[in-house]
Amino acid sequence: MGSSCYFCGERERVSYFNYYCADCAMLRRLLMSYSPKKCCEILKKTCLRDDKQIEYKITQEIKKIVHKEIETKNNDDSHIEPPKTRSKKKDYN
Ligand SMILES: [Zn+2]
Repeated sequence: MGSSCYFCGERERVSYFNYYCADCAMLRRLLMSYSPKKCCEILKKTCLRDDKQIEYKITQEIKKIVHKEIETKNNDDSHIEPPKTRSKKKDYN
């Protein structure tokens, strides 16, 4: 074939005169909005999480939301202790 994308190496290039397939060309344009270093940081933080870490992150976000709801509901009786849901597990990071 000889016309596969120079980046992913899988898909066809947009044309013979382009280096990349449509998606990789888009990626390149998006990534150029930031410095390569910044892009690596962002991608490492967002993409290099395994399923357990993603699950943990989601749980943490849900807890935050629930906490806020409890706080606003208990606005008048602030003497009530909010439930301690913060776990002290250090399995992650
Ligand atoms: Zn590609």
